Amino acid sequence: MKEYELLVDGETLSRAETEVVNDPSSNQPVATIALASESDVATAVEAAESAFERWRTIDPVTRGHYLRDIAAELRDQKAIIAQRHTEETGRSLSDSERSVEYAAEYFEYYAGLTHRINGETVPLSHEEFDYTRREPLGVTGHIIPWNSPLLLGSRSIAPALACGNTVVAKPAKLAPMSILELGRAASDAGLPDGVLNIVSGSGSTAGEALVTNENVRELTFTGSKQVGLHIRELVSDRLIPLNLELGGKSPNIVFADADQEAAADGAVKLFTNAGQSCYAGTRLFIADEIYDEFIDRVVSRIEEMEVKRDSDETDVSALISPSAQSEVASYVESAVESGGSITTGGRIPFEEGNFYEPTLVENVSDNAAVSREEIFGPVLAAYRFDSEQEVVERANDTEYGLYAGVWTTDLDRANRITEHIEAGTVTVNNYASPIPQVPFPAYKQSGIGSEYATAALNHYTKLKNVRMKVDRTLR
Ligand code: NDP
Repeated sequence: MKEYELLVDGETLSRAETEVVNDPSSNQPVATIALASESDVATAVEAAESAFERWRTIDPVTRGHYLRDIAAELRDQKAIIAQRHTEETGRSLSDSERSVEYAAEYFEYYAGLTHRINGETVPLSHEEFDYTRREPLGVTGHIIPWNSPLLLGSRSIAPALACGNTVVAKPAKLAPMSILELGRAASDAGLPDGVLNIVSGSGSTAGEALVTNENVRELTFTGSKQVGLHIRELVSDRLIPLNLELGGKSPNIVFADADQEAAADGAVKLFTNAGQSCYAGTRLFIADEIYDEFIDRVVSRIEEMEVKRDSDETDVSALISPSAQSEVASYVESAVESGGSITTGGRIPFEEGNFYEPTLVENVSDNAAVSREEIFGPVLAAYRFDSEQEVVERANDTEYGLYAGVWTTDLDRANRITEHIEAGTVTVNNYASPIPQVPFPAYKQSGIGSEYATAALNHYTKLKNVRMKVDRTLR
């Protein structure tokens, strides 16, 4: 069993209170993790505050070098970090290696932007000079989910650091190891003490202590809508920037003129990470005239997927916990109870681990729980549609608005649909995953704020205007 400690001010701290982390593919324990108390979180915030002045005033190019060094260290330590990521998430080693690579890419991307955090000059009268600066906020708090912990943690930690902020991060109790490894790798890369602190612990104790700490000047939360709304309540008496990256129930719309092979490949991307992805295309809308033919393509792809106990061999990884597995099973049962049918899948394949078969349900109404709620499992629901107008209304008939897919060879139609879909990202003919250089905004209950790309630089800085009286007369 590995033992993980908190990382505060460059020191690792063991704690009497610990929690066991289980491997989702076997439910066997793999590590014990120190749990941070409220006072540990306060200590971490103090350390981050003390480190802020030095970090904020380091010249931006040097700050960029630090971030590049973190990326290099992540790559050097890829084997061990990926191993821990696999043990905590149940994902395959190759998938975890890709996560380490993506994490490194976030640090590299923002390393390249540290000297591009520009203000502007504002033309005023001849007697005045006005310019703006983008200044770091101070200590930023980052609350990270379990579904893709390293990548989701890196996507907010990297821009926060790039802008000159210091960080206290709380990873999810179910999957904290890769974020603690990131903290260690950053220390190994020479990041000054206190700039990045990791307080593993429970949401109700460490998470709330971070959210309610008055010296935290910004909060980024990635997780469920319920906890996101609760966090917004907790900070309602403080005017701090909030990034809430919440759930999704994304439509994926296939028109009759689409390249069906490509669209079917796009449809089954849902099963990556066993459907535990916020932007997964969980509602598959298929034009009536190609419905049966297209469903056959999807079913044949799903039936080629093998669920195996070995996380490196299975095509669909285990769900994060036994309770997640039962929740997915009850959503599928409720789909059948409400008149739906299971076309393929729909079973727990074996007792060991938290696996669930990749599942397609059909004939469910738009009001069924399976059509409205975020299942966060390998369950795809398919629906027929007749017209653009109809499908846009049904696609938008959800409280969420994170992502959407449209498949058509008609450029005008693609433009019409993208304009009317209420989602932060609409992909056309490619259900592409988020990448650092493009923004990842959200509509409706999927969140506020914006991660990724240069939008994150605005979020992690505040604007200051400087207005100066000047004498321009030559003497
Ligand atoms: P949760 O909301 O349950 O937890 C997320 C994090 O919040 C965990 O670290 C958790 O701690 C912590 N937390 C829980 N309660 C509190 C609290 N009262 N105060 C402060 N922190 C708290 O989400 P999941 O981990 O289950 O993640 C899945 C959800 O995340 C899905 O809804 C998914 O759609 C969403 N998500 C959104 C993404 C986006 O970019 N929009 C990306 C990925 C996921 P603990 O360890 O105790 O659970």
